[in-house]
Amino acid sequence: MEYEAFYKICFDALIEGLCIADEEGRIVMNNSAFEDIFGLDPGEATGKSIETFIPKTHREVHKHHFTSYFNHPKKFKKGKGREFYGLHKSGRILDLEIGLNFFDFEGKRYAKALISDISSRKEIQSEILESKRRLENEVDHRTRLLTETVAKLERANLLLKDEVQERIKAEKRARGAFKKEKELNRMQAKFLSMVSHEFKTPLSGILTSAGLIDKHNQQEFNERISKHVAIIKNLVLQLNDILDDYLFLEDSETGRYKFKSSQFVFCDLIGSIVEGAKDLLKPGQEIHTTLCKEPMIVYQDRKVVDIIIRNVLYNAIKYSPADSRIDVNVDVDDMIRIEICDQGIGIPEEAKDHIFDQFYRASNVLHIQGTGIGLNIVRGHLHRLKGEIEISSKENEGTKVRISMPTGSRSRDLESRSTSKKSDVMSASRNTI
Ligand code: ADP
Repeated sequence: MEYEAFYKICFDALIEGLCIADEEGRIVMNNSAFEDIFGLDPGEATGKSIETFIPKTHREVHKHHFTSYFNHPKKFKKGKGREFYGLHKSGRILDLEIGLNFFDFEGKRYAKALISDISSRKEIQSEILESKRRLENEVDHRTRLLTETVAKLERANLLLKDEVQERIKAEKRARGAFKKEKELNRMQAKFLSMVSHEFKTPLSGILTSAGLIDKHNQQEFNERISKHVAIIKNLVLQLNDILDDYLFLEDSETGRYKFKSSQFVFCDLIGSIVEGAKDLLKPGQEIHTTLCKEPMIVYQDRKVVDIIIRNVLYNAIKYSPADSRIDVNVDVDDMIRIEICDQGIGIPEEAKDHIFDQFYRASNVLHIQGTGIGLNIVRGHLHRLKGEIEISSKENEGTKVRISMPTGSRSRDLESRSTSKKSDVMSASRNTI
């Protein structure tokens, strides 16, 4: 067997570059993989110093390592830590990994190196390192942003806590004020109710006397006396309505008023309210009534419904000028719907949110007599009757009030009996003292 040729083929079959150097650092033998790594022609490396294949800047260090290796030779496996730079024939710097061993032959010592080109691995490694660095920078950046955001949030949270505390305090104050106002209103209503009670008896006396004057006047009829008696009666009734409102206010505030539903013809009630209101009309003022065709029987608290409609209609008259028209439209189906429209002074924009407040009066009505409790009572009553009120108004053009309320649970049953029972139903009359 031709051993030399056999070993050469074996060495050339190695994937790693193989290189054998003597003590002077001269290459005595290398395989073709070694030549491939350094870009050499076949046989080009033989006899050359191994430093030829080390970059200039690293030659001194390499020389030192090489000498100390021959002084203390040992076996170094290829792997971690055994990396060095090589010089390609083209001048390119190579990243190499080396495994070292030594042997003696015919009294001379040789170093045997197995070399792998790890440039592409190193490139990938450095790419990985670079992306790791970028990632770390990004994480640092994001962490900084997050820390800033958390700090901002903490600051905002503190501010929010302060604000919440402030709001709680303000709410407490508002509640206290509301309680006081309620108490004040209650006391006011109580006082007004007491005074109203006191007024009722003398008023009743005035009305009786006015009636008597009227009666005595019938023998020697004096038109002027009769006219003034009518005025007195009318004014007493108006005053009585106001007192009724005050009394009702206290009764409903304290829950003393008990709702009493009864059956009645709804259009009769409207008719009597409109009839009663005619005494209040200014010269040339007219009320146009559109009633539902059916004489609808409803089951409601007649007194309360009367107060609701009367209050709204009287306002329409009171806040409209002479020669103006007031429309009262009534429709009764599953609900009672009343619409009262006037061509009066209207409600100023800023007053619209307050007109249901107790004792509130808009700035444009201060020269007109009023108490500011009518609409408050109306809304309270409608609330109890499960009804609603809606007001739309334009200053100096007029006001439209829409009221709706249920016909009452028994209205449907009663409807069938309405014709025969109609005569039993009380006809509405204006409240007397
Ligand atoms: P008042 O006794 O003052 O009429 P209300 O409670 O009935 O009290 O009404 C409250 C306020 O709403 C009135 O003072 C007035 O400013 C306004 N208002 C109510 N109805 C009308 C209307 N038809 N036209 C103009 N303003 C109205």
